Amino acid sequence: MADCLFCKIISGDIPSNKIYEDDKVYAFHDIDPKAPTHFLVIPKEHIVSCGEVTEEQEAVVGHIFSVITKLAKEMNLGDFRVVSNCGESAGQTVFHLHFHVLAGRNFTWPPG
Ligand code: AMP
Ligand code: ZN
Repeated sequence: MADCLFCKIISGDIPSNKIYEDDKVYAFHDIDPKAPTHFLVIPKEHIVSCGEVTEEQEAVVGHIFSVITKLAKEMNLGDFRVVSNCGESAGQTVFHLHFHVLAGRNFTWPPG
């Protein structure tokens, strides 16, 4: 999608620190990490948020979670947190679905 930061990262128009890529999913380190390990996992298909997922897109969202499991094991994350901010009031700033994966410190609950 034109003018989408994460679509431009997927296409390589904007550089990123890539961790993993396959035909459906792209994972890269967050530019402003909020934990010792903080990366984002995104679908290559432009989906606005986790509030806009259609039945046709169920498979890619499921796949994202098997990729998160695989990366968590390979990277020896230990315990970790997965976050998806959905909408501006929930903290979403980039409107291309993404799952934050954070690890390497203790986390409090509830989040702010
Ligand atoms: P959110 O605020 O939940 O929409 O998350 C967007 C995330 O994208 C933030 O954690 C940003 O630090 C991150 N981000 C923004 N621009 C870039 C970039 N060029 N490369 C990597 N991460 C980015
Ligand atoms: Zn996009």
